Amino acid sequence: MKALRIAVIGGDGIGPEVIEAAIPAIELAAKSEGATIAWERLPYGADHYLKTGETLPDAAFAHLKNAVDAIFLGAMGDPRVPGNEHARDILLGLRFRLDLYINFRPCTLLHPDLCPLKDQRENEGTGERGRQVDFVIFRENTEGLYLGRGSSKNVGTADEEQIAEEVNTAPKVERIIRAAFDWARANKRTRVTMADKSNAIPAHRLWQRLFGEVGAKYPDITRDHFYIDALAMQMVKSPEQFQVIVTNNLFGDIISDLGAQLVGGLGVAASANLHPGLAGLFEPVHGSAPPIAGKGIANPMAAVLTGALMLADLGFPKAAALLDGAVRAALREGQRTPDLGGSARTADVGRWIADYLRTA
Ligand code: ATP
Repeated sequence: MKALRIAVIGGDGIGPEVIEAAIPAIELAAKSEGATIAWERLPYGADHYLKTGETLPDAAFAHLKNAVDAIFLGAMGDPRVPGNEHARDILLGLRFRLDLYINFRPCTLLHPDLCPLKDQRENEGTGERGRQVDFVIFRENTEGLYLGRGSSKNVGTADEEQIAEEVNTAPKVERIIRAAFDWARANKRTRVTMADKSNAIPAHRLWQRLFGEVGAKYPDITRDHFYIDALAMQMVKSPEQFQVIVTNNLFGDIISDLGAQLVGGLGVAASANLHPGLAGLFEPVHGSAPPIAGKGIANPMAAVLTGALMLADLGFPKAAALLDGAVRAALREGQRTPDLGGSARTADVGRWIADYLRTA
């Protein structure tokens, strides 16, 4: 048995509810592939910040950096902290300080009725039912427009000027493109798509150059390119054509929400923040959802699927596949929370998935 040590930050709102509902299933799946998990629950989040003034202390950061195999995070964001400073320190702090440069977001349709698009092929009379959406997004996670560089002038006047600078540097663009190709090769995908806006933003020509240079080292993988506006259109028109999409921080942020909606919405969208060789930060795409927090109706599937990404990254692909299969079974059997049209409660869905794994 391999012993894994995973830090858990439930965080705010629905974060702790979905994480606790997902943990038993993740533990069972890991066990079936020979791993035990010691969960280390950490208190950081809005409650802790309001009580102590502490966001993420340096000692905790060092611990997360050096002493755990992965970090499993629920959600950050609380109306009592309108400036969101605790989330900035914890979530963005971990992403930036750990240099987690890959934001990995799978968009896989786990049940046909979760896709909001009409069933094109059925309409075309092929007899085949259901869309086949199955791609992953590699979003650059450490630069772009998110470094906060820029300036403000004449704030609050009729001449106000706000400038935000987008930073694109060769080593960082290159490593995210390389990560996309490496993943494609390791997962038997044959096509990588890069999206930028180099027709309007000359700085994005760097992405074009490096996509060509890096991609040339992967002759087994086809490269293609879309301007980001065209990509958004194609994602809705025929998402089946995509396998792996790599893009910058801002565009990745936007198209991952579009991708999430193509496969069922925030309740089933998982993500990982990675730096190969270091502990990753794994979190559902959704936020803390204050309107439904504490009601027991949040969908824990995104957290379970995030657990699957975590186990896959830690070297337990069979356990990850089991979790994936169990979520598919739950969807098939109607074990759904209200966001997916059902009436099941968070804990019920978590329990059902764990029971399914116990008996599968
Ligand atoms: P953030 O900016 O922190 O990412 P957000 O404003 O985009 O958050 P969320 O908190 O993710 O929004 O949620 C928006 C709405 O989506 C929620 O109010 C809720 O209705 C729905 N939602 C999000 N996650 C879930 C979930 N796991 N289960 C059910 N509904 C959800």
